[in-house]
Amino acid sequence: MKKINKLLIITFILFISSYTVIVTNASTNAKTLRELKNELSSLKSKKAQKDNEKTQTQGQIAASNQSIANAKNEININQNKVEKAKEDIVELNKSIKETNESIKKTITAYQVTDGQNVYLEYVFDATSYEDLVYRYAIVEQILDYNNEQIYKYNDLIKKNEQLQIDLANREKELNNQINSLSDKIESLGDKLEQISEDTMDVQDEINSTQELVNYYTNLGCGLDQDLNDCVSIKGDTSFRKPLSKGTITSYFGYRINPLTGAGTKFHSGVDIGGNKEGTNVYATANGMVGKIIRRASCGGNQVYVFHTINGRQYTSMYMHLLTINVSIGDQVTSNTVVGTVGGGAGTRSYDSCSTGAHLHFTLANGWYGKTYLTYSKFLANTFDPKKTLGLPSKGRYWYSR
Ligand SMILES: [Zn+2]
Repeated sequence: MKKINKLLIITFILFISSYTVIVTNASTNAKTLRELKNELSSLKSKKAQKDNEKTQTQGQIAASNQSIANAKNEININQNKVEKAKEDIVELNKSIKETNESIKKTITAYQVTDGQNVYLEYVFDATSYEDLVYRYAIVEQILDYNNEQIYKYNDLIKKNEQLQIDLANREKELNNQINSLSDKIESLGDKLEQISEDTMDVQDEINSTQELVNYYTNLGCGLDQDLNDCVSIKGDTSFRKPLSKGTITSYFGYRINPLTGAGTKFHSGVDIGGNKEGTNVYATANGMVGKIIRRASCGGNQVYVFHTINGRQYTSMYMHLLTINVSIGDQVTSNTVVGTVGGGAGTRSYDSCSTGAHLHFTLANGWYGKTYLTYSKFLANTFDPKKTLGLPSKGRYWYSR
């Protein structure tokens, strides 16, 4: 919800030309650009932390998958071992059978008396009693040997059977491991999904906060300036010339009074000539019309515009206007026509302080009427706009703003 609010607000801010204080308040908790930037960097840390968690979880999933693969591999090997044990048992049983038959034959041979039996012949061929006993014992040993073989075979069968049991138990154990690893992977997967969602949320917040930072930076808001102030007086980053063409006819500062020719008088701005009465006069930068004076006996029609340039407050003033094209509170851009050049025949009836068509243009620090209230303070805050606007020296013309 917070995210959507921000996006809506940014869209609103970017595409609607009238800026309201309410909109700015809702967009972020930050009151200044510095706070907003701090929010942005803590969001970025949060994102980095989430990314780290994500990598760790992915590593855990990979390790669990590897363990499962290992367990499955062991099961396969064990199943081969079981097969081998079964085959061995079959072979051993075969051997037992063969040995049994061999014993049977031997015993049968013992009992045969027709002289065909090799064992009996061997026994009866004895040359003495001792020899007889000896030969009898040999035959018995053959039988014993066969019996021993059978015991060995049986023993091997038992061992193979035990091996099968052991392997079956191990397989159970491994299958349990696989099951618990699968459960672990599943919960890690859920965790990963959650982290990914969180990361996306944080990224959204980063993006929208970054857009706000860019927006306020481009407005020219100061780091510690109240963002509401900055937006209500739409900021800017630089000043432009108030006329498309012109030439300075009188510099800023102390000069001979052009009307009386006597003494030195402070000139609070630059006079710009070279334009007919009625030529468009533009606001020098984005801002808000803060003050309008009509038909003053010295200065005639005057417009004062409040600006925030790179976070600093200024007032621009346009004097001797033939017409005033704006109202107090109007938001202006540097392309807004605030009025037209006067000071000549068109304004002579009421403005006695102009000798011909020209614009008197003044720049002052602060907002005259807000930061300070008196005209003398305004004058004290004026500064030479020649350098600020990049105006050429007297007598030389410019042809673009
Ligand atoms: Zn002047």
